[in-house]
Amino acid sequence: MSKIKMNPIVEMDGDEMTRVIWQEIKDELLSPFLELNTEYYDLGLPNRDATSDRVTVEAAEAAKRLHVAVKCATITPNAQRVEEYKLHEMWKSPNATIRAALDGTVFRAPIMTPRIKPVVSTWEAPITIARHAYGDVYKATEYRVPGPGRAELIFTGKNGESFRETVYDYECAGVLQSMFNKDTSIEAFARSCFEYALSVRQDLWFSTKDTISKQYDQTFKFIFQRVFDAEYAEKFAAAGIEYFYTLIDDAVARVIRSKGGFIWACKNYDGDVMSDMVSTAFGSLAMMTSVLVSPDGNFEYEAAHGTVTRHYYRYLKGEQTSTNPVATIFAWSGALRKRGELDGNRELADFAGRLESAVLGTINSGTMTGDLALLCRDPDVKKVTTAQFIAAVRKKLEG
Ligand code: NAP
Ligand code: MG
Repeated sequence: MSKIKMNPIVEMDGDEMTRVIWQEIKDELLSPFLELNTEYYDLGLPNRDATSDRVTVEAAEAAKRLHVAVKCATITPNAQRVEEYKLHEMWKSPNATIRAALDGTVFRAPIMTPRIKPVVSTWEAPITIARHAYGDVYKATEYRVPGPGRAELIFTGKNGESFRETVYDYECAGVLQSMFNKDTSIEAFARSCFEYALSVRQDLWFSTKDTISKQYDQTFKFIFQRVFDAEYAEKFAAAGIEYFYTLIDDAVARVIRSKGGFIWACKNYDGDVMSDMVSTAFGSLAMMTSVLVSPDGNFEYEAAHGTVTRHYYRYLKGEQTSTNPVATIFAWSGALRKRGELDGNRELADFAGRLESAVLGTINSGTMTGDLALLCRDPDVKKVTTAQFIAAVRKKLEG
């Protein structure tokens, strides 16, 4: 059987358990079937440190050039990681760097299988969370305030116009933070959401706390409405879908009572938190896919979970872990399908579909990793290691 040819995609390798699984997926599920063509960037923490994090910036630039990227989970360093890896600096989150470079929106959707019932019994279809991937608390400036004094917010305009406002007159020590966002990024966010909703023909919900944040959050609400009215109202009507704005508190209540099958657009922090809640309620964080879509049509696919550190430490001791590779496999299949779509490479897009079917077929036949076995009460379930699961998927793919 001749292997399927493809144009290059950007491959961003990562850390710990997911780095191990990354290699297994390539060896067992991709290379035997494809002439796998990637431009490789090692975003593992040791190489980020060795390159002063230049490798992350280069990988993001490559994603803009090749339009399709697939990324492994990576460590976001904290004080403990600086110590553990003897880092020169506490490098920024690679995801934050890549998101900023692409100015895109992250769409996270659960992978559903009949074997795993969502905790919320009314959910019948996936809920996709669209997370604004720019600014807010992720790019905030913050201080520990050492003691009494005045905090002020100052804006100095290019044309000389400026504003100054007292934030707080501290009578004791405390904390202080300032966040920013910009209209161009919010507009790009809105456009990505409306475009994505049209492409999957699902309603789009958007929520903020505009009753409390009368400048910041209200700006998001107004920009969404303006872009919708000017560019999307007719297209949505023609597609039979709706755009709907509500307060985030109301959205949370409605989401829990819903049947699913819509996109929920959230500001950066809300999207971070809510996607973990939604993915857990759908089953497992390990069954959540994530794609960063930039308004000019670049796509970066990854799993929503992290590097699964606790499993990695057990792996280092020689244990065969039962870490779920499904979201990482779907990151690859998502990227390969998109490459196929963009290039008119039908064989490649078909392969992506067959790979996903093989994964879902394996789970439906009762073979799954421990995290899923815990959620699935069926008596015929067989809990397997990562390597055994991947081998079972390969067998289905070959069969
Ligand atoms: P995590 O890697 O997502 O793992 C948290 C826990 O969730 C695991 O200990 C495991 O639970 C379960 N889990 C997650 N993925 C799983 C999988 N594929 N199969 C089975 N169980 C899975 O989050 P974390 O431990 O908070 O973070 C670890 C590192 O990942 C951190 O350094 C963080 O910076 C990084 N991170 C990276 C990304 C990214 O690159 N996108 C995202 C999040 C976190 P049990 O131990 O109970 O089995
Ligand atoms: Mg999170």
